[in-house]
Amino acid sequence: MSATIIDGKAFAATVRARVAAHVARLKSEYGIAPGLAVVLVGNDPASEVYVRNKGIATRETGMQSFEHKLPADVPAATLYALIDRLNADPTVHGILVQFPVPSQLSEAEIVARIDPAKDVDGLHVLNAGLLATGGRAMVSCTPLGCLMLLRDQLGSLSGMNAVVVGRSNLVGKPMAQLLLRESCTVTIAHSRTRDLAAVCRGADILVAAVGRPRMITGEFIKPGATVIDVGINRIAHDGKTRLVGDVDFASAVAVAGAITPVPGGVGPMTIACLLANTVTAACRANGLDEPEGLTA
Ligand code: NDP
Repeated sequence: MSATIIDGKAFAATVRARVAAHVARLKSEYGIAPGLAVVLVGNDPASEVYVRNKGIATRETGMQSFEHKLPADVPAATLYALIDRLNADPTVHGILVQFPVPSQLSEAEIVARIDPAKDVDGLHVLNAGLLATGGRAMVSCTPLGCLMLLRDQLGSLSGMNAVVVGRSNLVGKPMAQLLLRESCTVTIAHSRTRDLAAVCRGADILVAAVGRPRMITGEFIKPGATVIDVGINRIAHDGKTRLVGDVDFASAVAVAGAITPVPGGVGPMTIACLLANTVTAACRANGLDEPEGLTA
């Protein structure tokens, strides 16, 4: 048996097209141009690439992109003053501060400073709380993208056993909350979990968000399960750098029913969902209905 490969790149393209269509409608019917502000502190090369790509993707959908670059040694007060201005700016519907930030800055304090309604990364405690209590949250982009792929692949997730490996605030916890909302029976595994392989073998849906290259092998997977590999790990291979996931694709593909590849699985969905969240934020800010197919 060989698993169906879940094409995240193709699905992300359909999400972006939905975003672009919605943006066009917001502009023509209401005169609203959704806007995303991205703040980069310092000049980490990887972060610069991410920010540039986010700007390009934002403009491609017809939205406004506002990019702010601050020096690596910027005082916290200067960054907070910028966030306050963006919070108050009605043309900005989403704010994203690119992490990691230099050590004089606190990521938790930065997130707390962002208006929860503009928190398109879904990291503010208010959004985490709303997600946990069934409210109208902004949902963290990567788990939202995983959920969209799962719904597309499986339809209803109700009653399925889901195991999420990883309990970060960015991925593992919101992923588990989303799966619970879909009426899955959810287990969250982490570094202290006993007999992880056995726990994972109970999963109809297995989400790996660990940050350890190829840790989840075929032996961890129930035959026919749907496997979502969130991991992005850079490893040296034949003198080059190569991207691999947290799942050992070669052994997993022989056991799973469906699986996301790395690259080309979850990664493209994350940016697509950032765009989706910005449109959602623009609709909410203007008292309009939420865009169909772009929210949790
Ligand atoms: P974190 O490092 O914040 O969390 C990793 C989690 O994995 C922790 O909860 C940790 O457990 C758990 N873990 C670590 N080692 C083991 C182990 N041996 N067995 C079981 N659990 C373990 O990472 P993130 O959640 O931020 O990211 C996870 C992965 O997803 C990374 O590869 C990251 O690059 C990738 N990522 C990809 C994105 C995308 O767009 N595709 C976006 C965001 C992240 P404990 O809490 O006990 O320490």
